Amino acid sequence: MILGGLYEGVITYVDLKDYGDFGLGTFEGLDGEMVALDGNFYQIKSDGVAYPVDDDMTSPFACVIFFDADREIPVWKGLNYTQFQDYLGGSTQEKNVFHAVKIEGTFGYVKTRSVPGQEKPYPPLVEVTANQPTFEFHDIEGTIVGFYYPDYVEGLNVPGYHLHFITEDRTAGGHVLELY
Ligand SMILES: [Zn+2]
Repeated sequence: MILGGLYEGVITYVDLKDYGDFGLGTFEGLDGEMVALDGNFYQIKSDGVAYPVDDDMTSPFACVIFFDADREIPVWKGLNYTQFQDYLGGSTQEKNVFHAVKIEGTFGYVKTRSVPGQEKPYPPLVEVTANQPTFEFHDIEGTIVGFYYPDYVEGLNVPGYHLHFITEDRTAGGHVLELY
């Protein structure tokens, strides 16, 4: 499990693609942030750049689905990440159901992080993220890909929203830390 420092890949990307065309995750050794969108898989490395994912690469953690929107709601510029989560949460009746979130548009600001690949013995995630490179995007067109995890996932995953971002030209992105 990721939080405790088990970063060995347990599934190849070629197999993961059987489970979905949309989602997020990471790579063996925690080598960057994964974004899957429209069946294309990207590895956003610690330089903030999005690289194509090879089928034989592996992941210790990923969450993917075949995305098919059940409902669509408008989101406007100016909501910060906290307000944005409240707004999305308020629009969702089912707090105990996992759901996928896809947000397309132009964002006033997005701050992301990625993490450099780690060597064994793997350090805990809090140590890795203590020195994480961060990236800032202004007036940027792109897509946010993510999931909402209910409170009962505590211990298995982090409850709440987990969002990754990729630019419209699919060249950069990362794990979302802030946006408005
Ligand atoms: Zn992430």
